[in-house]
Amino acid sequence: MRDGRRTRAIARASVALVCAAVAAGALAQGRTTGREPADDATPRRGTERAMGARAGREVSLAAAGDVLAHGTVEATARRYASRGGYLYALGAVRASVESADVGFVNLETPLTTRYREVNTSRWPPTLGSDYGLERAISMTGFDVVSVANNHALDQTESGLAETVERLRAARLGAIGAGPTVDEAYGAWVVQPRGVRVAFVAFTHPMNPVGSVPARRVGTGARMYVARLWDQERVDAAIRRAREQADVVVVSVHWGGNEQAESVSRQQRRRARDMVEAGADVVLGHGPHRIHPVEEMESARGGALVAYSLGNLISNMGYRYRRGMRLTGMTHPSNGHPGNRDVVVLRVTARVSSEGRVEIGDVTADLYWTDNVAAGDIREVRVVPIRAMESPLREERETAMRAALGPRVQVTSPGR
Ligand SMILES: [Zn+2]
Repeated sequence: MRDGRRTRAIARASVALVCAAVAAGALAQGRTTGREPADDATPRRGTERAMGARAGREVSLAAAGDVLAHGTVEATARRYASRGGYLYALGAVRASVESADVGFVNLETPLTTRYREVNTSRWPPTLGSDYGLERAISMTGFDVVSVANNHALDQTESGLAETVERLRAARLGAIGAGPTVDEAYGAWVVQPRGVRVAFVAFTHPMNPVGSVPARRVGTGARMYVARLWDQERVDAAIRRAREQADVVVVSVHWGGNEQAESVSRQQRRRARDMVEAGADVVLGHGPHRIHPVEEMESARGGALVAYSLGNLISNMGYRYRRGMRLTGMTHPSNGHPGNRDVVVLRVTARVSSEGRVEIGDVTADLYWTDNVAAGDIREVRVVPIRAMESPLREERETAMRAALGPRVQVTSPGR
């Protein structure tokens, strides 16, 4: 959402307070945790519109994939502290995100380094970031952040608890984890332009972190992560979200398909199950590559499935140079350009007075992870694809367009 015009209609969907507030025509603000909502002096854009007619309402969503604070990414943020830190690294997508009513991203890095040593050179990497990443995510225009992914417990359950706290302190909704199972599977509801949009998140994989030394700092927190394999719970969570919103968005971190070139039959089946349970938009991630965006019929009208949004920022594919051939010596996650392709997907959903949902425009703004070498120093920065020289630019535009499929209208924002 645009800065200063954020609709802080945020509430845990399972809370009766939400329904009561919406019924009263006011914006809901509260959580199931029982804690007092944070003070919020921001103007509430949706208030007057929420009071208005319910017919033919429209909401736009911007979504991006994985945020992975690999060592070089964190080093870039530190090096450019005077230019916004992480905002220097990923702020280029701001125009694409802010122009939508709600922004979503998958945060694949715990926001702390207190509980385990960060090691991004071993496999699987143990991630952690302590350099204001949450503020940059918020300032870039994102509102809702999934923490349900395989790195959720890289800094132990205490680290995950701290991550959720930091996100909330930065006025971001955190989905897919919580101190109880119900909260982990619970929805986060925002209400821009009077349309209630519920977000839930699930992950299939969870990385082992046993080989990385624990620091034994306050490891007492108990946190649950919403898991994809528990299909009954997943479907129930989506149905609950459906009851409390006009539009339901499901974030899913698929498993076992990192670097996959295409969508599996099982993913298609699970996406179909989610739409049948009540999802209107499914936002997939995990393969670190961009996969097709497809429309599906649903009982409410139409639904949209983005099978994989790829990465928003990472150090993956850093060895890629145009024309190079991948050999056995280079792991695909180090040398594949698809890991450096970046899209911000923008989806418009219309809600009729009968509650039917229709998917309208679907566009993707194209970016690229510039990973440049300046002497011994590399830096990672997301830039508009248009800022890149030809022929790299044509190559990646063509590749991203093909990966997204015909339902998406592709645009290249300016430098
Ligand atoms: Zn992952």
